[in-house]
Amino acid sequence: MPRPLIDDIFTMFARFGDERYGEEVTQLQHVLQAAQLAREDGAPDSLIAAALLHDIGQFMDGAGLAADEHNFDARHEIVGAALLARAFPREVSEPVRLHVTAKRYLCAVEPGYQAALSRASKLSLELQGGPLDAAGLATFEAEPFFAAAVALRRYDDLGKRIDWDVPDLESYRPLLERLIR
Ligand code: FE
Repeated sequence: MPRPLIDDIFTMFARFGDERYGEEVTQLQHVLQAAQLAREDGAPDSLIAAALLHDIGQFMDGAGLAADEHNFDARHEIVGAALLARAFPREVSEPVRLHVTAKRYLCAVEPGYQAALSRASKLSLELQGGPLDAAGLATFEAEPFFAAAVALRRYDDLGKRIDWDVPDLESYRPLLERLIR
């Protein structure tokens, strides 16, 4: 059901893309900026798609609102990755699944990273388990998509600029269709 999945995803953006989940920019602006950052960084199409779709789980089961309003971690990266894995290759779904762990990783290994997170990301960090411990670091570094997940995380963190106009969602449809199995 490849093509219907893209339509379903675009419909979710139409319904929930204006939500902010505690950030300064809307969800749609956020992921469009993350995808543009990936593109400017010379990332492969799979990682550009991952950047565009990394928060799709926020739209499922009210996950985004759960974190923002109820102080509850609905594991949006897991439900989002599971949806994407139905049609997209692992190069797309795996960095999405790992993008929260990548934040916990960078908090543990990169001085100043945690302090520079957005307010919403700092709040969710605690619900997500805080910085990784030594065992968590080793497990994460052994992931096949470790590097892609860290790269995605940086696009995620930087894709929160006020008033940055970037290409729209529809412009990504051909790229998504090419990636789908
Ligand atoms: Fe995000």
